[in-house]
Amino acid sequence: MVTLLDTVKAKARHPEKANRPDTPLLRKPDWIRVKAPGSAVYAETQKIVRDNKLVTVCEEAGCPNIGECWSKKHATFMIMGDTCTRACAFCNVKTGLPDALVQDEPEKVADAVARMGLSHAVITSVDRDDLDDGGAGHFARTIRAIRAASPATTIEVLTPDFLKKDGALERVVAAGPDVFNHNLETVPSLYLTIRPGARYFHSLRLLQRVKELDRNMFTKSGIMVGLGETREQVMQVMDDMRSASIDFITIGQYLQPSRKHAAIDRFVTPDEFKNLETIAYAKGFLMVASSPLTRSSHHAGDDFARLRAARQRQSGR
Ligand code: SF4
Repeated sequence: MVTLLDTVKAKARHPEKANRPDTPLLRKPDWIRVKAPGSAVYAETQKIVRDNKLVTVCEEAGCPNIGECWSKKHATFMIMGDTCTRACAFCNVKTGLPDALVQDEPEKVADAVARMGLSHAVITSVDRDDLDDGGAGHFARTIRAIRAASPATTIEVLTPDFLKKDGALERVVAAGPDVFNHNLETVPSLYLTIRPGARYFHSLRLLQRVKELDRNMFTKSGIMVGLGETREQVMQVMDDMRSASIDFITIGQYLQPSRKHAAIDRFVTPDEFKNLETIAYAKGFLMVASSPLTRSSHHAGDDFARLRAARQRQSGR
């Protein structure tokens, strides 16, 4: 439930949204149920994050799965600060002018990954349009630092779109993450209202280019549903993703962070998510995660193991 307090906080975190009219609220259905934070392991995860002065997307995006993930010592680190240079209508991450990069952040992330004993680490970031390379060098250093500290850990990056940052994508791919994830977020017709700073076909091309650079690198992308898209539009996005050889699609329900964010058009039912999963597999994705609480990094470690197994089955190895 979005409260008045959430709206006040949203104005402070998102100055560009402060004068927008409040959007209506929809009551959450029974199937949107989450585990409350507060277990001993949750507190341990929180301590490691705080000790290393790290930022997580789990907290900044107000992810509904934090109680479950942190209780299993799964956290997704958000590098390059807590302030984003874009202003997407769905996102709870603070917007504004970011601080300078913390130069030893890659080592701090690597230390946290080692202390948490992660078999699969997910690293994301805010958009850094203010940096010449969009933050690609920092991503590459973070990947290398994790590899050095935890050689057995597999690494998934969830990157910005590196719009107008020539050579940025190539730097990240050259650092050799196991999974390259970049979310398309929504259908093309909603980009202007939901993701105004981005371009649908640029994002799609970014993922296609990853495969051209390294055909063995897994690619992954996700969309939110419940923003007003039609079923046909979702089918088209799936087809576009397959044309770009994307291996893994995630589909989850959009949840509104505050009354200043985009309104929820509707709650997609669990049966509809199941149906989307069946269709996505039929369209040739190696791996599909489709449920109301699916998020890019939810169960990412288990899903990576399944993704790898699916490729081995497909290639007959
Ligand atoms: S789903 Fe991802 S962002 Fe959400 S709490 Fe889990 S690890 Fe964090």
